[in-house]
Amino acid sequence: MISYGKQKIDENDIQAVVDTLKSDWLTQGPAVKMFENNLAKFFGASHCYAVSNGTAALHLSGLALDWSPNDYIITSPITFLATANSILYSGATPIFIDIDPITYTIDILKLEKKIKSLTNNKKKIKAVIGVDFAGHPCDWESLLKLSKKYNFKLINDNCHAMGASYKNNKKYAIKYADIVTQSYHPVKHLTTGEGGAIFTKSKKIASKISALRSHGMTKTADLTRDNGQWYYEMNNLGYNYRITDFQCALGSSQLKKLNKFVERRREIAVLYDNYFSGNKQFITPKVLNHVDHAYHLYPLQIDFKNIVISKKSFFKEMYSKGISLQVHYIPVNTQPYYKKNFGYDKKEFINSSNFYNNEVSLPIYPDLKNSDIKFIAEAILSSTK
Ligand SMILES: *Cc1c(COP(=O)(O)O)cnc(C)c1O
Repeated sequence: MISYGKQKIDENDIQAVVDTLKSDWLTQGPAVKMFENNLAKFFGASHCYAVSNGTAALHLSGLALDWSPNDYIITSPITFLATANSILYSGATPIFIDIDPITYTIDILKLEKKIKSLTNNKKKIKAVIGVDFAGHPCDWESLLKLSKKYNFKLINDNCHAMGASYKNNKKYAIKYADIVTQSYHPVKHLTTGEGGAIFTKSKKIASKISALRSHGMTKTADLTRDNGQWYYEMNNLGYNYRITDFQCALGSSQLKKLNKFVERRREIAVLYDNYFSGNKQFITPKVLNHVDHAYHLYPLQIDFKNIVISKKSFFKEMYSKGISLQVHYIPVNTQPYYKKNFGYDKKEFINSSNFYNNEVSLPIYPDLKNSDIKFIAEAILSSTK
């Protein structure tokens, strides 16, 4: 069965994990620090914390920015549940803004219109979480302008876009956002099994995150000198969001290969483009001029309304041929929990809803062979005739 995403683990990765298992440290040792340093260097962040998963990184972002029940946090509905759920953890209210139909990232004009109307109603917009969907960066320059104009913080949920570049800059994420979050789940560009990281350029945010990921504990040289070697203090309620040393050893080994992984994903995308672009039944993912796409996903839109096969039957047919497709994503605002608690207006999400109806995520991962791609593309073309 060919699935939509899969990790690539080699002998060096395995050796790195084994070496760590034989060392003195299984958690909170040198491999964690090393991974954080490697990530900080690669992504250009002055502060980096590796954590237990990408959702924890998002939760910590809200905690570090002091989100509270009177705050409004904005994101787009074409994302994984975790992006929006992380807003709910703090009791704040999630607001969704439709996607742009070309890049599938948050629509800037609709965003500003909504911010104006919320502000006029005396609602406090505390942050916008931009999702670099599928690996295509948001319009970060415009987001930054809006964040200054209306005084809110920017978070980049960067889980899809590791290795992407924006205006020729691979370190763009932390250049524009106050906080960047990543996930190293096996379907993402690099893996630690479960795992994630959070980046910031603010010393103040960094010191909060550092305590909050480990129960809110702080232990400083001053505190132990005054009170004793054992002494620590808890000033805020934190969590156990730590990651192990053997996971981080895997992460550092994987990070060395990230550029190669992304290169292969781009080759695969070109092959798919060749099969599907120029055919009216399909819309292939567009890449704006100033962007290098990282292709966590290859979202193909199929015009199911104008072909005989339904999306449901199409998925079944592909599955019977050994191809397990996926859909990214069911718009979060349409989930029963969100509908029940917030009741969003469907009319505001025309692009998201069209995209969801047509979208199919084709398999894309470094180990996929050119012959697999030919097989997948021909299967799709023959089923949608
Ligand atoms: C994977 C992902 C997450 C969550 O990461 P986990 O490590 O699975 O907790 C959050 N946001 C997006 C966009 C993701 O793709």
